[in-house]
Amino acid sequence: MTDILKTIKGTQAMGKIQLVAVRPILTFDHPILREKAKKVARVDMSIQRLIDDLAETMLAAPGAGLAANQIGVALRVCVVKGDDNQIWGLVNPEIVKFEGSQVGPEGCLSYPGWVGEVERHETVVVKARNRRGKEVRIKASGFTARAFQHELDHLDGVLFTDRLTNLGTLQRVEDMVNAEEREEAVAAASG
Ligand SMILES: [Zn+2]
Repeated sequence: MTDILKTIKGTQAMGKIQLVAVRPILTFDHPILREKAKKVARVDMSIQRLIDDLAETMLAAPGAGLAANQIGVALRVCVVKGDDNQIWGLVNPEIVKFEGSQVGPEGCLSYPGWVGEVERHETVVVKARNRRGKEVRIKASGFTARAFQHELDHLDGVLFTDRLTNLGTLQRVEDMVNAEEREEAVAAASG
């Protein structure tokens, strides 16, 4: 038995410590990604655990955000990584204000290896509950605003491929011959 397995077995035996888990990310053909996720009635420990798992899975991918239905839970919960590496864990998030527009490359952890051009609001204000159930409002612009919009779309069963400015912009990262283009694609919001 490896040391890691021993540790996990020991932790389970104690029955106290909850392990944060990197969960498998479902891909675009899974029907749950096309469902409208349900509102969370109460922010309890199971929701906090879900936020922890989402954050861990997003960081391991790595990605800029992750929605609960991408790991098979049809609840309105998502995580987004900010510019300063801050991680927002959001429950029942909604866009309450938006301004301007931006067009740029975007990827999705449920569409690994693909990027396409998507138009988004430049700035958004998102209203949500945090992991303690407290109401928060977050103003984001640029890359982070794009990540918020991508994750909120997931919660409505919408994928970035539904929003491409042009189907012809969808391409495989590995097929990009231009190094600069490939770099930009890797840096694209992927959540
Ligand atoms: Zn996505």
